[in-house]
Amino acid sequence: MTTTASNKVRLATAWFGGCAGCHMSLLDLDERLIDVVGLVDIVYSPVADIKVFPEGVDVTLVEGACCNDENVHLAHEVRERSKIVIAFGDCAVTGNVPSMRNRLDRDQMIASVYSEGPGKPPPTPVLGRFLPTLIPKVLPLHQVIPVDIFLPGCPPDPERIWAAIVALLKGEPVLLPEEMRSFG
Ligand code: SF4
Repeated sequence: MTTTASNKVRLATAWFGGCAGCHMSLLDLDERLIDVVGLVDIVYSPVADIKVFPEGVDVTLVEGACCNDENVHLAHEVRERSKIVIAFGDCAVTGNVPSMRNRLDRDQMIASVYSEGPGKPPPTPVLGRFLPTLIPKVLPLHQVIPVDIFLPGCPPDPERIWAAIVALLKGEPVLLPEEMRSFG
């Protein structure tokens, strides 16, 4: 795997339509995070608060399904600028919880939540102008961009995250044992 001048792997994580549980599981690597930080530069992540997805990323973990136009836009940037893209967790792999809305009509659902339900509806210009627009159906990541590695689990437990990271850092294929390939 290519490394930077500092000889570190350039690692990014992105957060699409998900509950942040996959990122929490990443943080649950606990003391192993110290080893990871010694070997990688985190160049983009919700936990690093970096605004622009950079060029020349080695590995990107994408949590969550593609739910809106911002997710789709960032997914394409991630693909163009990353050597390896990992669908990180069940929402990215299958759509999982966010895709439950696919049984509903999008526009009727928005009207039910913001216009017909309890509470004050936001001014009409807010929807679609300041908020991302929901795409008609929630999509798993591989239906938007090509994905290199699928890491299932809701969330993937720290052991399988660690197994994937170790393989990647060694430059080996990520071949998880059967017990680490389950969903849920
Ligand atoms: Fe949350 Fe599970 Fe989706 Fe991860 S896979 S974002 S833990 S619902």
